[in-house]
Amino acid sequence: MSAHPPVVHTVDAIRTLVMQARAAGRRVGVVPTMGALHAGHVSLVEASNRECDVTVVTIFVNPTQFGPKEDFAKYPRTLEADLERLAGHRVDAVFAPLNEEMYPAGFSTYVEPPQAAALWDGVCRPGHFRGVVTVVLKLFQAVPADAAFFGHKDYQQSVVIRRMVQDLNVPIEIRVMPTVREPDGLAMSSRNVYLSPEERQRALALSRSLHLIEQLAEQGERDAVSLRQRMVATLEAGGVDRIDYATIVDPETLVELNELTGPAVALIAAHVGGTRLIDNCRLGPSSRK
Ligand code: AMP
Repeated sequence: MSAHPPVVHTVDAIRTLVMQARAAGRRVGVVPTMGALHAGHVSLVEASNRECDVTVVTIFVNPTQFGPKEDFAKYPRTLEADLERLAGHRVDAVFAPLNEEMYPAGFSTYVEPPQAAALWDGVCRPGHFRGVVTVVLKLFQAVPADAAFFGHKDYQQSVVIRRMVQDLNVPIEIRVMPTVREPDGLAMSSRNVYLSPEERQRALALSRSLHLIEQLAEQGERDAVSLRQRMVATLEAGGVDRIDYATIVDPETLVELNELTGPAVALIAAHVGGTRLIDNCRLGPSSRK
């Protein structure tokens, strides 16, 4: 078994390591995560390894992006297993700060997220994106990498982060990589461990409904209202307990579309048992992600 990557706990130490690598002319990639790593996260590490000379993985369960009734306390924290999972890959450092390192006493500055954060998850999870953009900017300060790797799985998050980086002149390239799925189609997620075997079966309704409308769109269906209805019907038939949203949006503004005239993204958030799941796929010219 290969050795664990070195774990760094302080901002000073990781910043020094990254600055030294860059000063030596090496391209640095960062993969921000909340841990409980799965093959989706590993695909981001592999992407960074392909495109960069040095890869830093950050592992931090960020309290400011969880609502008061959300799963911050029970979110899986599995640092040892995460290090084990990364051992087979080239990871130059894992940055795993304690809460006090990221949010020391007196912390009170937050980033106001861009407009795209007001829709969808921004409605269902008030304050979520404020926490996300704040911690991501802080992570980029701690790990001043050349490129950062995110998953298409959290599509709205990727749009919000791209916009934040552009709006605030953050000198980092944002790369968004395809969603990694289980063989039966379920999008990999750290939250899938919450699902009972019966709930996991019902959770397949998300990817199934996306797959269905993807096929309908490929066959020429352009009526986004009708595609939305098909998504909802498939989610309900599959037994999800509550749909937060099932929509088709403009890939950049995230504004809901009534007609497919160009690229679009279908977005779903739904509850199965006590677990909130999200998934999405691109519609139109490019293939499913
Ligand atoms: P998380 O640990 O859930 O905050 O996710 C960290 C990063 O991994 C985010 O950029 C996610 O979009 C990405 N990610 C999560 N699940 C997947 C997946 N199934 N495939 C690809 N990337 C993913």
